[in-house]
Amino acid sequence: MADFAVIGGGIGGLATALFAARRGHRVTVFERDARAPGGSRSALDEDFFGWRRPGVPQAAQPHLMLGAARSVLRAEAPDVYATIMRLGARERHELDWFEERPPARAGDEHLVMVQARRIVVETALTEALRAEPRAALRYGEPVTGLLVDPSCAPPRVRGVRTPLGAYEAELVIDAGGRRCASGEWLTAAGCRPPVVERHRTGIAYFCRWYQLPAGRTDGPSRPWTVSGGSFAGCAVFPADNGLFAVTLFVHTEDPTRGALRDPAVFEAAARTFPPGEAWLELGARPLSPVLATAGLDNRWSALVDEQGPVATGMVGVGDAVTHTNPTIGQGMSLALWAARRLALETDPGAGRDRGHGREPRPAPGSPDFVAEHYAWALRTLKPWFDFQVTADRAIGERFAAREFTAGPARHMAALFECAQEDPEVMRARARVRHLVAPPPEAYGAPEVRRRVEAWLAAHPGYLPSAAGPDRREWDKITAP
Ligand SMILES: Cc1cc2nc3c(=O)[nH]c(=O)nc-3n(C[C@H](O)[C@H](O)[C@H](O)COP(=O)(O)OP(=O)(O)OC[C@H]3O[C@@H](n4cnc5c(N)ncnc54)[C@H](O)[C@@H]3O)c2cc1C
Repeated sequence: MADFAVIGGGIGGLATALFAARRGHRVTVFERDARAPGGSRSALDEDFFGWRRPGVPQAAQPHLMLGAARSVLRAEAPDVYATIMRLGARERHELDWFEERPPARAGDEHLVMVQARRIVVETALTEALRAEPRAALRYGEPVTGLLVDPSCAPPRVRGVRTPLGAYEAELVIDAGGRRCASGEWLTAAGCRPPVVERHRTGIAYFCRWYQLPAGRTDGPSRPWTVSGGSFAGCAVFPADNGLFAVTLFVHTEDPTRGALRDPAVFEAAARTFPPGEAWLELGARPLSPVLATAGLDNRWSALVDEQGPVATGMVGVGDAVTHTNPTIGQGMSLALWAARRLALETDPGAGRDRGHGREPRPAPGSPDFVAEHYAWALRTLKPWFDFQVTADRAIGERFAAREFTAGPARHMAALFECAQEDPEVMRARARVRHLVAPPPEAYGAPEVRRRVEAWLAAHPGYLPSAAGPDRREWDKITAP
């Protein structure tokens, strides 16, 4: 069996290691952070609120698990999924927006969101990986460089280096997230640079965690949990064990940005949006300060350029390949897709059919293996990356121009409003949201188009309303 070295024990690294170990590979995960998730329900809060993770700042931000990620976990590791639920996560079917769930259709089972803090998912994955005899978790042992054989063309990565030693591996998996230095290590070893595409997003996020009051297990099912105006937005993220997060987002150049770190200002501002008000008025208990994140970008990074692989022996998963701004919340899903694909492609028992009989798959780390991994990523992950870039551009333009009442933005707002009344349109929206179908396929379906057109015809003067405060009110609330 192959020896795999995994750089990073975030969601992408843990899932990749687990799926591979369960196919018989010996896997070692190297994680820079010395602390590991606790593994019990009582440890969750300590790990979530008491663990400073400067290398993974998003760990404290709310995370939704989309249907795409849920489907991978249920298929590959149903025990992990069961642990996530045992630790207090909740499922929410998108079609439960309606008082009565519309008659089921094939595929509706993928439209389920899992509501939990990220630590719940990390805890469940870590627990499962610890029980795997072929897996080793090396916490507090950062990868500081790669073992590269420069005599191969292209150079071949043969393992990783840490402060404690050098470890050879047949395949190195870069799951070190968006800040991992693997690109620099490769170029320092004489490789051509990875192909990187980067888009600034210009959105700043502020979140605060709350506990529902005693006796309440659920918040209000309406209004819609996201609302946005022309310069700011608000979203509520229900999570596990009666917790929820309220998030505000503004442009990174918005002058009121600094004021939102003040809990009193944050709460007053959140209450000016329908979801913020609906959840905060329940008398929820704050559990955290206001946690800010900004400077996020959408970054695509591939180890293959027009000449082929820049190196062999190594491939990326998760944020190392496709780091996306979280307005769609697809990061864990894309990471789990890649983890599953790697497991299938390195499955020792499986060949593949190329039309002329079964033949073995390329050896892990070989030039064909690396080229095929990134060709798959380009086909499967890149369209969703591009979707995120387009969505962020629209938000950026809206925030900059303070205008979203015309053109495609108006049409999309109408589609969302129509979805709240029409199960067929809601299903289309949910299929896009859960990465089941790309927007042109789901929104371009004749029946969906017909229904949205009919809705617009019934609302001829429709203007998307800025659900939330006007600028004067916002400036007043956030004034020093
Ligand atoms: C604000 C925000 C909100 C988000 N919300 C969502 C959401 O709602 N839904 C969703 O699906 N996704 C969301 N994401 C994305 C999601 O967190 C990631 O895409 C997903 O967890 C996959 O990350 P990863 O495992 O590839 O990287 P990371 O989570 O960054 O993990 C990388 C790990 O590698 C370790 N590491 C780094 N360098 C080294 C090294 N040299 N040696 C050893 N270890 C190293 C780090 O310590 C870390 O533990 C959000 C992201 C952000 C920024």
